[in-house]
Amino acid sequence: YSDASQKIDYVFKVVLIGDSAVGKSQILARFSRNEFSLDSKATIGVEFQTRTLVIKHKSVKAQIWDTAGQERGAVGAMLVYDITKRQTFDHIPRWLEELRNHADKNIVIILIGNKSDLEDQRSVPTEDAKEFAQKEGLFFLETSALEATNVEDAFLTVLTEIFRIVN
Ligand code: GDP
Ligand code: MG
Repeated sequence: YSDASQKIDYVFKVVLIGDSAVGKSQILARFSRNEFSLDSKATIGVEFQTRTLVIKHKSVKAQIWDTAGQERGAVGAMLVYDITKRQTFDHIPRWLEELRNHADKNIVIILIGNKSDLEDQRSVPTEDAKEFAQKEGLFFLETSALEATNVEDAFLTVLTEIFRIVN
């Protein structure tokens, strides 16, 4: 995606947070390399991927961190739960509190219900998440890293909003 000779106008740091196994690494793999793996290994150590895209004729390099504890300097956050695991959604307020304690107060946050391809195993109604997001002032989307549904949209939502704020 990126080209070394390309002039970069902006670098935006974005963090992916949420319980283990909700699909953070696969969302990142889908967005940065258009890849997906069913036997994804647990993420060990600090990891980030980048992808450069064009927003309103400017080149924006998204630097996306896939590990908790990397909130410093982040201008965007993706708060991820698994739509088939209720407790991963019930933990979202804690992740949000952690973000609000450690990240910039103007950070742009999107709530993401991942694994939307597993509709038959759904345990978190879309409406519950939508209502929570609205109450907390978060963007919200359901995604499937497996089927590549809404992954691009989720990143674009965050990056475009950050772009709007800095311009
Ligand atoms: P992380 O711990 O949050 O980084 O989660 P991973 O990205 O490692 O994913 C955990 C497991 O869920 C892996 O087996 C993935 O293949 C699987 N997974 C991730 N995203 C999806 C998805 O959108 N749909 C389905 N069905 N499985 C997914
Ligand atoms: Mg991971």
